[in-house]
Amino acid sequence: MSDSTLLAREIARRKTFAIISHPDAGKTTLTEKLLLYGGAIQMAGAVKAKKARAHAVSDWMEMERERGISIVSSVLQFPYKGRQLNLVDCPGHADFSEDTYRALMATDAAIMLLDSAKGVEMQTKKLFRVCKLRQMPIFTFVNKMDRPGRDPFELIGEVEEVLGIGVYPVTWPIHASGKFRGVYHRELKQVFLFELVAHGAEIAPMEATTLDAPHLLEALGEEAVKQLRDDVELLEAAGDALDRDRLARGEVTPMFFGSALTNFGLPQFLDAFIELMPLPAPRNSDKGLIEPTDERFTAFVFKIQANMDRQHRDRLAFLRVCSGRYERGMKVRHVRTGREVRLTNPVQFMAQERTVVDDGYAGDIIGMFDPGLYLIGDTICTGSPVAYEPLPQFPPEHFARMAILDPMKRKQLKKGLEQLGQEGSIQLFRPPEGREGEAIVGTVGELQFDVVKARLAAEYGVDVRVERLSFSFARWVEGDTLPLAELENQLYGYGALDIRDNPVVLFKGDWQLESCVKAFPKTRFLELGNSI
Ligand code: GDP
Repeated sequence: MSDSTLLAREIARRKTFAIISHPDAGKTTLTEKLLLYGGAIQMAGAVKAKKARAHAVSDWMEMERERGISIVSSVLQFPYKGRQLNLVDCPGHADFSEDTYRALMATDAAIMLLDSAKGVEMQTKKLFRVCKLRQMPIFTFVNKMDRPGRDPFELIGEVEEVLGIGVYPVTWPIHASGKFRGVYHRELKQVFLFELVAHGAEIAPMEATTLDAPHLLEALGEEAVKQLRDDVELLEAAGDALDRDRLARGEVTPMFFGSALTNFGLPQFLDAFIELMPLPAPRNSDKGLIEPTDERFTAFVFKIQANMDRQHRDRLAFLRVCSGRYERGMKVRHVRTGREVRLTNPVQFMAQERTVVDDGYAGDIIGMFDPGLYLIGDTICTGSPVAYEPLPQFPPEHFARMAILDPMKRKQLKKGLEQLGQEGSIQLFRPPEGREGEAIVGTVGELQFDVVKARLAAEYGVDVRVERLSFSFARWVEGDTLPLAELENQLYGYGALDIRDNPVVLFKGDWQLESCVKAFPKTRFLELGNSI
């Protein structure tokens, strides 16, 4: 087989995605079932321990060793029916941060997981906006169908209305006598009825039949069958088919119903997901679009995790491989500095356990030990240098000043904040020319301030008090320039500069943004900053 055929085949096997959801929708459960149905584990029930990480760490490491997989990491890699799935974690809840959004910069598709009783929730909405920005294909799984939830038609309406994406239901839930029994698959025109085993810890036996099979009446009863046939008729009346081009552009989402806990409807979803997931799209660089099958190796940094191992104070840079093939020890160019570096020990299973990999292909996520070279958004490549588009800065929602307790440590504080800012752990907004004052720290997640405070103390020897500020969002400025230093005096918000010296305004609320827009009609105020 020629090199380019092999490259194309390997890339087509890789499916790199994230699950976007609101806490409690069932992300952990679904992740575990991916492993169960992919054959990576035989019995579910382990991943839940993630929630009780403190006591379960040793069990975890044991399991990871045994199964050769990592189940608590930022990236989870495992086989599924001949494909290699790379699941990039989008941490939520207390861990919600810029990293959550950036995970979506490194993936080729997202699974949007909804709780059938709750529909589209806040965190899902925020993450969806980022997927939309990238025109990323989105697959919707409506979970917890085994419990009373909303009417499926109503849920479709909600997704279309709230998120502005078309919905194409591929499967449809079947209930009989108040119990969830399985799904009807519209493409296969088959009914799948499930049996509950071991509380869903093992693969659930299922039986396939057709809508008009007499046996179906026996299994479900007349009323349920009539309901199902009516529903299907209603769906088919729309007369449409799933448009794969629109799916690839994120304009329509195939929707599936099921229960991650009991596994009902799950294999139909997983099979369709890996079948329908488009090939990785080309990515934009300063030299134009780069196809994943380009022979050149290219990758960019989307996450940096510092001090993963306290004893070594090391940093790990997570890179998304965008094109070509890599080999351990290969020489690549670090484009921003022009330096040549070696892929000495690329690692793949990034948790407490790391496995060094010898080679891999576009679609993979690799970790590189970072001596302080990498910044979020950096490109490495072989051949003539290219740089991928900078990652956006995501909308911070929490703001504070770090009040220093020992004035002698001002310099260390400045250095610490700058480094945390460059690392992309926080966003820094400094006063514009002509104004004095300390930088304002902005974060996407509220608890990031605790992390900043702890890291300033541990790594830079600076104790601070976090003084929360009453801003509620930031907007990046485009178009006509603003008198940044004077905005605050006129109550139009607080003008500042971000870490790349881009002008930003921090606002206390919509009212303030509106008055600013009125006062400066030729200036645009953008939700996403365009570089980090
Ligand atoms: P995460 O916060 O999104 O990771 O959610 P988890 O996977 O931890 O699930 C949250 C809760 O919902 C747990 O108690 C799960 O057992 C439960 N859960 C998850 N999927 C289902 C489901 O399909 N049906 C029911 N009844 N409960 C579920």
